[in-house]
Amino acid sequence: MVKGYCRQGTVKCRQVSDRIIKSARKKGTITAYEARYLSEVTVWCVDQGRGRAYYRHNDVTIPKWSLTEEKGCGYITWYVAHELSHMLAKKRWGTRGHTVDFYRALVDICPRQHQSHEYGYQKRSPKKLRQARAIQKEKGYDRR
Ligand SMILES: [Zn+2]
Repeated sequence: MVKGYCRQGTVKCRQVSDRIIKSARKKGTITAYEARYLSEVTVWCVDQGRGRAYYRHNDVTIPKWSLTEEKGCGYITWYVAHELSHMLAKKRWGTRGHTVDFYRALVDICPRQHQSHEYGYQKRSPKKLRQARAIQKEKGYDRR
């Protein structure tokens, strides 16, 4: 369905995505149900500027350049985690876009050492990320 995807990248995307889900599950920041839901999301690599979450199709895309770009350690991991966080935030709270809830999902699934890549994404990211960390620290596993 997505134009210009790259098969090779998709294998890599799958591996990255599996690793993210597995480690979040191990940390206990996502439920078994959420892990299963996220593992059913297809991660496509596409020839476009930015990634996107296609909620209705259970697909996310990441841009091809992010696979090769030298942006430092964990950049692809962060990118895939970012798009998966959109799916998780939608699933948990029905929220779309870069809301604080989105960042709460990100805090739960993106490895901590790679979360700082988020800072270059949006101007308000650092603030929202801080808020999200505080909420998740307080509420932890109880997200109702
Ligand atoms: Zn986004």
